[in-house]
Amino acid sequence: MRIAVAKETRAGETRVALVPELVGKLTALGYSVVVEPGAGAGALHADEQYVAAGAEVSEQALEGAALVVSVNPLDPGRVRMLPPGTATVSFLPVNQSLDLVADLRDCGVTAFAMELVPRISRAQSMDALSSQSLVSGYRCAIVAAGLLHRFFPLNMTAAGTIPPAQVVVLGAGVAGLQAIATAKRLGAVVKAYDVRAAAAEEIRSMGAQSIDLELETLEGTGGYAREMTEDRAARQRDLLTPYIAAADALITTAAVPGRQAPMLVTAEMVEQMSPGSVVVDLAAESGGNVEGSLPGQVVRIGHAQVWGGANVPAQMPGPASRLYAQNVVNLVTLMTRDGGFAPDFEDEIVLGSCVTHGGVVRHEPTRLALE
Ligand code: NAD
Repeated sequence: MRIAVAKETRAGETRVALVPELVGKLTALGYSVVVEPGAGAGALHADEQYVAAGAEVSEQALEGAALVVSVNPLDPGRVRMLPPGTATVSFLPVNQSLDLVADLRDCGVTAFAMELVPRISRAQSMDALSSQSLVSGYRCAIVAAGLLHRFFPLNMTAAGTIPPAQVVVLGAGVAGLQAIATAKRLGAVVKAYDVRAAAAEEIRSMGAQSIDLELETLEGTGGYAREMTEDRAARQRDLLTPYIAAADALITTAAVPGRQAPMLVTAEMVEQMSPGSVVVDLAAESGGNVEGSLPGQVVRIGHAQVWGGANVPAQMPGPASRLYAQNVVNLVTLMTRDGGFAPDFEDEIVLGSCVTHGGVVRHEPTRLALE
């Protein structure tokens, strides 16, 4: 049975769904692996490396494939060329891809969405949201350190003492905790805030100070946050203002599943930051945690440079692809029986991540949205 690795077509995408190092994991399961030419180029993996690892490289990789793996969903033109019964594994943001989901359904494609893999212990090794957030969080701290024209660590020298940078992180999920850990390793003094009660302990375990605003916590389901009321949001902004005004670098990573990113910081709050300060908004693409941030751009608000994230994992394509590929290989392994791709729809991971199968939309909220 053939697994095809698609070349990404999304503008600016540098990642690839399978790295040469992991080709052997799929061939050992009994698959043949065929890679589209140049698929790994953005992540610095040459076609020859795939061949040396046991894959074939071909323009016709998708023809005859039982499964096509990619980072972003295939574009509609390519979906319509897939024979019924073909499976796809990729990120598939269903809320923003209803037309594509309808195409996948109508073409009889079995489509799995990496972001729908249930966040249960057994599925941790397949959790691509976490692996890519890890990359994003690290990158946010490095970007903040790079934009800030001063030291992160304390420096005590014969020429005098330079105090460490003050960093504030808002949102302490997977990305935020990684941003905290990275800023701490660089020597900054870090304070962080999250609406979930459990996050306070996690922030402290990273060696940062957990900001306590004495507001009600907002736990949702599955370990995620709940949306704030406008009253609470306003109160949170008021209480955070002095922390942000005192920060040299502010990093925001807050998100609520299925919603626009919460707006946590107004332009007026940023205007109170000192000359030379830096804001990094990881959520810029999904609405922004910071008023006025723009994805893929650095804008000036008051005295601060405000950097807006745009496909941040693609800025570190090597490790992001390696981690994503391992998540995909683990999911494919779960769906393999007797050397063939045979997903067991009784399995909660298979069922949870399936969007379309057999001409039907299996993901209930998406099915309802399409009616
Ligand atoms: P996410 O990307 O949806 O959100 C990022 C963070 O923003 C979250 O910590 C959230 O609480 C926070 N946030 C939301 N609104 C906020 C606001 N108004 N102000 C400040 N912060 C706000 O979440 P994520 O990072 O993907 O995951 C969050 C948590 O889910 C993890 O820390 C973990 O506890 C849990 N999780 C569990 C598993 C598992 O069990 N396998 C896997 C991954 C994550």
